[in-house]
Formats: sequence, structure tokens, C-alpha cells
Amino acid sequence: MKAEIIAVGTELLLGDILNTNAQFLSQELAAMGITVLHQHVVGDNAGRLKELVEMAKSRSELLIFSGGLGPTADDLTKETVAACYHDTLRFDEEEWAKITGFFARMGRETTPNNRKQAMVPARGRKLPNPNGTAPGVWFEDEGRIAILLPGPPNELRPLWKNAAAPMLAAWQNCVLHSVVLRVCGPGESEVEAKVGHLFEHENPTAAIYAKTGEVIIRITARAATDAEAEAACRDYAKNFYELLGDAVYDEDVEGMEETLVRILRQKGLAITTAESCTGGLVSQRITGVPGASEVFRFGFVTYANEAKQRLLGVEGRVLEKYGAVSSQTAAAMAFGALDAAGADLALALTGIAGPGGGTPQKPVGLVYIAAAHGDTVWVKKLMLAGRSRETVRLRASQQALDMARRLALGLLIPGARMFLRGENAEL
Ligand code: AMP
Ligand code: MG
Repeated sequence: MKAEIIAVGTELLLGDILNTNAQFLSQELAAMGITVLHQHVVGDNAGRLKELVEMAKSRSELLIFSGGLGPTADDLTKETVAACYHDTLRFDEEEWAKITGFFARMGRETTPNNRKQAMVPARGRKLPNPNGTAPGVWFEDEGRIAILLPGPPNELRPLWKNAAAPMLAAWQNCVLHSVVLRVCGPGESEVEAKVGHLFEHENPTAAIYAKTGEVIIRITARAATDAEAEAACRDYAKNFYELLGDAVYDEDVEGMEETLVRILRQKGLAITTAESCTGGLVSQRITGVPGASEVFRFGFVTYANEAKQRLLGVEGRVLEKYGAVSSQTAAAMAFGALDAAGADLALALTGIAGPGGGTPQKPVGLVYIAAAHGDTVWVKKLMLAGRSRETVRLRASQQALDMARRLALGLLIPGARMFLRGENAEL
């Protein structure tokens, strides 16, 4: 099936907002095995929109629209597309009740132009929008489909996933199932090099996205039943596990912290943190996971040297001789936290997040992470030069969580060295 994406909104043409909906929809359609021929952007102008729809409809079976479903006069996507698909709009009492209820909950009154949003296709279908007032719309004309979605991404995305995509799959006589693999360690280009050939496949399809500190691989299969589609995904996922090994840290999770908390709970291990440059980000990520209280009781944010000494027992001579940003200090912080918290695992981070504070010997982006357990500590040195303060902190937290995961599972920690308590942890 061939598709085109039409984003409607003068604000897009003015450059006021970025067309992220087109990117999202393109990725989603590719995952469904639907070929996107064109992406268009058109202003809030009925004449130009009509012209574009007529042309696109003549050559593509599926048109997907974003934006222009609002209550104001410049929101004219529904009316214009209805005419092109030989449909009309009718007032829908059920949608109107939802809209008035939505306004009432916010303590506001509807205005007459809100009635526009309760207009739905006479022949086509409406797609419920639990996150906003404008329902999505589905028009069908002689085997050609138009799907209209609201502009705000927080409405468009769930509406697409929960209503539009399943309807489209049903229309194609199939169901879709996705499995999302999360990869930490190798960068996007390294992952591409190893498994790039697996992204050429038709069904299941696989797509790769880079996120700060990790790579996401989404596998999507089409089949007659959900069970078959899932089995096809699992089967295809094996190829990735074979080539990427334990760098694939989990499936279908929100992030590394979720995986780590699950592993620690399964193993009955408690973790603590001693953070300098990340200022509590690691403990924030851990405690953001429901159930974290089983594995995390407290952590330390020891920004100043004095705090590292007083709360973690880091010796003054270690700080003086090697500096606060050193593998020795990181190791001492980890052991100090381990003992003070009586935990099974401790993560310690010390580094220079920037943008200031760097020297030629210790440049911005230099971070030491230590993961201690019993009398051993693993220390890793990161060089994150050229990144923003926020990115340095996020990447460091990601690496730290991954080190804890590997330690808890007894896996090798690539790029880290092991030292014993009392040894000079010099990297
Ligand atoms: P609209 O449905 O056209 O009234 O759009 C409402 C809001 O959705 C806009 O003000 C933007 O914040 C957002 N929006 C609209 N179109 C897009 C798009 N193509 N990509 C990302 N955000 C969008
Ligand atoms: Mg608009």
C-alpha cells in the first residue's frame, strides 16, 4: 500500500514548530510495511489543501493528515477532506457530551465553535481521542482511505497507536505486533554495522532509533493473529540477540532503570549511590521505577570534597593526591557508600559535566564511574567531550545503571577494570 502524509498548519510553514508528527507517522508506517511516497506541509488554506488532497488521492490509497481539527475558523481539514472523499459531516451527540464533559472537568464552558469538533463523518468513522476534544476521523472512498489526526503530538500518538493503526491493520486483514529491543553499549553506527542487514526485511520489519546513551530497535510483524505476529517478532529478535549479545539489555521497557530494578528485586539485592557530577540523577532514575523501595533505601549526593570525606569517608590524601575527579576517588566513594548504606551494590560517579571547569589533563566530559560489591570495585572512565552538560550527565547515569545491571547479573563490564579494596584503583 502506498501512503502520503499531509501536515496541515500555517505555523509549520512559518517555522514556528517542527513537523515531528510527520517523522513519527513515517516511522510507524514503515514499521507496518506501508510505503510513504511523499510528506507534505500545507498552510491553513482550504483551496490549497483541496488541490493537494485531490492530487495525492489520485495516486495513493492512504492519506494521513495531522492538524487542523481544532475549533477555530482556520481549522478546516475535516470539512475539506470530507468533500474530497465524497462524504459529509453530521453532528454527533456522543462526541458533544464528551467535549462538554471535558470542559466541565477543567472548570471551563464550551463556546459555540466547539460544536465543530463534534462533527463526524456521515459515512466514515470517528476515532476516539481520550486525550483531547477533537476525535480523529476515517474517510473511505472507493478503497481509498484518509485518516485525520489532531495536531498535538500527545494526542496524535496515542490515537494513532490505539485506534488508527489497529483499524488500518484490520482493513489490511492482519494484526500488528511489535517488540522493542533496548541496546546499551555500542553506538548507533556500530549497531548498524553489526545488524544493518536485518533492517532490510519486509515482514517482520525492523527499525533503529538512537536515544541518548542507547539504541532502540523496534521489530514489527504482520500476521493473521496477534499470537502469530508475536511469535514472528520473537523469532526475528533472535537474530539481534545472536549478533549483539548482552548489549541488548531488555525488551519492551521504558529504560535501563526499569530493567535494573527488576533484576535487583529478583536477586534480592540492595543498591546505593554516591553521586557527584550527576547530582542525584542516578538515584532519581532508580526511584522513578515503581517498586524501587525494595532495592533502594538511600543514596548520597556528595558534590563538595568535604561531603565526600564526611559522608563517604573518602580520605583527604586520596582527594589531594589524585583529585576529586579520578578513578581512585570514584572507587573510594563507592566503597564508602556501600559501607554507610549497608547495601549489596554501590554506584559512584565523579566527573566534569561542563561547560566550565575542564583542564587539559581533566577535560569537560571526563567521568569516572565505580560499581562496588563486597571487596571488589569495577571502575570505568568515560570521555564525553563535546557534549552538553545535560547529555554528559544523562550518558554517565546510563553507563552507571548498565554497570550495576552487569554486576548484578555477573556479566562482564566492557571497558571497566576490577580492583580490590585497599588497592590503588588507578586507570
Ligand atoms: P492544530 O490541530 O492544527 O490546531 O494543531 C494544534 C497544535 O498541535 C499546534 O499548535 C502544534 O503545537 C501541534 N502540531 C500541529 N501540527 C504538528 C506537527 N505536524 N508536528 C508537531 N506538532 C504539531
Ligand atoms: Mg492548526
